[in-house]
Amino acid sequence: MVFDSVRGRSSAGWVSQTPSVVDRLRSETDGRVPFSVEFSPPRDAAAEARLWRAVREFETMRPAFVSMTYGAGGSTRDRTVRVTGQLAQETTLLPVAHLTAVSHSVEELRAMVGAYADCGIRNILVLRGDPPGDPLGEWQRHPQGVEYADELVRLVRDLGDFHVGVASFPEGHYRSPDLEHDTKFLVAKLRAGAEYSITQMFFDIEHYLRLRDRVAAFDAEQGAKPIIPEIMPITSLKSVRKMVELSGSALPTELEQRLAKAAGDGPDENRAAVREVGIEAASQLGERLIAEGAPGLHFITLNFARATSEVLANLGLGAARV
Ligand SMILES: Cc1cc2nc3c(=O)[nH]c(=O)nc-3n(C[C@H](O)[C@H](O)[C@H](O)COP(=O)(O)OP(=O)(O)OC[C@H]3O[C@@H](n4cnc5c(N)ncnc54)[C@H](O)[C@@H]3O)c2cc1C
Repeated sequence: MVFDSVRGRSSAGWVSQTPSVVDRLRSETDGRVPFSVEFSPPRDAAAEARLWRAVREFETMRPAFVSMTYGAGGSTRDRTVRVTGQLAQETTLLPVAHLTAVSHSVEELRAMVGAYADCGIRNILVLRGDPPGDPLGEWQRHPQGVEYADELVRLVRDLGDFHVGVASFPEGHYRSPDLEHDTKFLVAKLRAGAEYSITQMFFDIEHYLRLRDRVAAFDAEQGAKPIIPEIMPITSLKSVRKMVELSGSALPTELEQRLAKAAGDGPDENRAAVREVGIEAASQLGERLIAEGAPGLHFITLNFARATSEVLANLGLGAARV
């Protein structure tokens, strides 16, 4: 397929038969909640080999889809596009490519979407992204770029037959003045054509339930679109503290105390004990989300299969679908 990045459309008049994320969420026939996993772009060849080991392990568990995060940096960016393309072409998995507006002109964003289309990717998670270097620093729009993710949703939808998801924030995005504005901006992305959202990780289910209620109260039609909760199985207290700081999610005091007790006082945390607490907490959260009717469970894997597969086993998910 040839993609015209100026007009932004495939010159072959491309109409793909690739399923959408929402199709996949609805096509589970055995009554089990679908699950999906998030990978990150590998930084070097060793990391890429590790990613592929995780990919092959997850492939046997038949996730509804897999997503690949996006960083704006040069060589990692090229590797991201290549590896995401390989997921589409060399595995049985349904890949979702993350796309961010950081440091990109509209022209470049069109070309990126074209590169994904050329390797058969039709599902895109559209994000604004964070400032490179300091994610909590001041956002700078590219002079020829977009300001907010809703503009990028429209841009991608205008380019052709793409299925778009967006980010949602159970505890509110850290740049939103309050939860009311946060809800309004999420609904704007859904109205712009996003079919679903995937949440920021959270550890207290109440945040997810309140988000769902807020969106439904604001706009019943948009509130009917799937809000896929993201779960982080904690395997390191040090890493989760860092992730929480950057994501704006809160680690509940009770969970943090249990993790800290498991980690111990030594110079190195007791990873096995932390992992045990983390997997138990993720399994309990998953169980409650299933009971509350979540449309799917999306796991942050950090390109390792083990922790997530243990949570899946605890939840009775992840074996071959009938
Ligand atoms: C599931 C998930 C996956 C992610 N994957 C990646 C990734 O791959 N790469 C990466 O770099 N980052 C990723 N992120 C992080 C994300 O890019 C950042 O959190 C970013 O700061 C917000 O992105 P957004 O798409 O929600 O932006 P937006 O929806 O544009 O929101 C950005 C801020 O602006 C506010 N806002 C939105 N519209 C308006 C408006 N019209 N007027 C005023 N304010 C407005 C919002 O409330 C918010 O505070 C991910 C986040 C999630 C939840």
